[in-house]
Amino acid sequence: MQDLRQYLREGNFIIADGATGTVLQSMGLQPSTAPELWNVEKPEAIRSLHRAYLDAGSQVILTNTFGGNRIRLNRAGGLGKRIEELNRAAVLLAKEEADGRTYVAGDIGPTGELMAPYGSLSYEVAVDVFAQQARFLAEGGVDLIWIETMSDLNEAKAAIKGTKRVTDLPIFCSLSFGRRGRTMMGTTPTQAIETLWPLGLTAIGGNCGEGVEVMIPVLTEMRNAFADAVLIAKPNAGLPRLENGRTVFDMRPEDMATHARHFLKLGAQVIGACCGSSPAHIAAITEALRA
Ligand SMILES: [Zn+2]
Repeated sequence: MQDLRQYLREGNFIIADGATGTVLQSMGLQPSTAPELWNVEKPEAIRSLHRAYLDAGSQVILTNTFGGNRIRLNRAGGLGKRIEELNRAAVLLAKEEADGRTYVAGDIGPTGELMAPYGSLSYEVAVDVFAQQARFLAEGGVDLIWIETMSDLNEAKAAIKGTKRVTDLPIFCSLSFGRRGRTMMGTTPTQAIETLWPLGLTAIGGNCGEGVEVMIPVLTEMRNAFADAVLIAKPNAGLPRLENGRTVFDMRPEDMATHARHFLKLGAQVIGACCGSSPAHIAAITEALRA
């Protein structure tokens, strides 16, 4: 495998994976169960998820550790004491399936707590929480750290600082933007990139969020702010709606692929999909972008 920073700096693009959470739910994961538990209780399910994305053309796959920080694990039935075991198991599964052919990204999601002054989570504690998870992921042998689905600029910053405290690996950071072109906490793409890109990221952009259309202002604003930034587009497969108590997404793989082509034109170099997407969406994106 080539050096990831170099590969992206040369202007190449890579295809990421699709959803983890919504696919695991379709495999029977209950909303009350922490997805990270499956890294040890149902490893074959996690392997098959990785394999499906690799077969679909993903060149970077995310470990099943989105909620693998101690704050979130503790809320999920006191799993915080198993943080090392659950993160390391996830890395091992992804690495064995990737088998040195594709990049494995250690996934770091938000704590789910509000940061001060709105909530009780202090910046320093947040840095420490993210440093702890990043250390287990890095020691496990991931190729990069991917901080994702962030809404709070301060929390994203804490995650980057925490990661940098423990490893020199490349760091991707993507935030979740809504239809008003801002995160839930009100941050614009311009504010996000102006604060976070100078911290030394390898790639920055948007993931999850309210539909594919929000990626257009995200990519445009970020490109305008930093012409040399490596941009990420990993949106949800359309907008969620409730059907018989279940959240469903409607965007078809071929429509996702059309949008992916547009993201590439707007300068995105890391392209994938988030909630509601499946390996079929990634396969369609691969076909469209490699054509
Ligand atoms: Zn998502």
